[in-house]
Amino acid sequence: MAGLSYCTLGSGSRGNSYAIWDSEDLFLVDAGFSGKELKKRMGQVGLSPDDIKAIIITHDHSDHVKGVGVMNRRYNIPIYATPTVLKGKVLKKEKLKGQVEIQPGKKFKIGRLEIKGFEVPHDAPQTLGYRIQNNGRCMAIATDTGHMTPQIQKMLEGCDGLVLESNHDIEMLKNGPYPAFLKKRILGDKGHLPNVESGEVLVKVIGPDTQHITLAHLSEENNTPEVALETVKTILSSNKVNGVVVIPASQDEVGEVVEL
Ligand SMILES: [Zn+2]
Ligand SMILES: [Zn+2]
Repeated sequence: MAGLSYCTLGSGSRGNSYAIWDSEDLFLVDAGFSGKELKKRMGQVGLSPDDIKAIIITHDHSDHVKGVGVMNRRYNIPIYATPTVLKGKVLKKEKLKGQVEIQPGKKFKIGRLEIKGFEVPHDAPQTLGYRIQNNGRCMAIATDTGHMTPQIQKMLEGCDGLVLESNHDIEMLKNGPYPAFLKKRILGDKGHLPNVESGEVLVKVIGPDTQHITLAHLSEENNTPEVALETVKTILSSNKVNGVVVIPASQDEVGEVVEL
């Protein structure tokens, strides 16, 4: 039996959510879709919102928290986030019942699953990535990451599975339709991670245990799944990093179930 399973329910600027589970417990990281949509997407991989033990939040941008209020009320699911994130513009309005305050760098547990948040640079009051361990297996999620830091890199190291942002192709963004201020925001230190930087950090963090990489939060205007994959795979193979499955996450389709 797999020690740790996960599935991207959807990822991109119109909504993000991941389901993570072992044989006993299931939780979500982010709930950036409507309650109805989350239920539908979970059903496609045989999961039910009735079984969710927690929703753990990365940050207070609506593409990550849109469905948090309704999931909290409809299914009585406790919401785990830092005090700063809970006070954010969107979440504050939800009047959540059953908030659980967490801190970056401090481990907590959902059943046997052990979770540790780490800060990533992004233009929200506070943004966290998560490293999740169970039964000798480990996965980490880092999206909405303006640039890599040694601390983030450390949290991605030694994982069996990784979900890493591969937001845009720098040339597509520069030559694309976005207004200058938005280009500046995305390219900035607190924006989103480009394909090339995602590939470069993967070269550093992929280890002998790494089996599966999901490229996440792909821009629909400034990237394509093909361009992201090609860029990252070229960087990996030119650095002799081979034998790891790399797939792009989709905004509209539920991803494959990864069993570690
Ligand atoms: Zn986002
Ligand atoms: Zn964001």
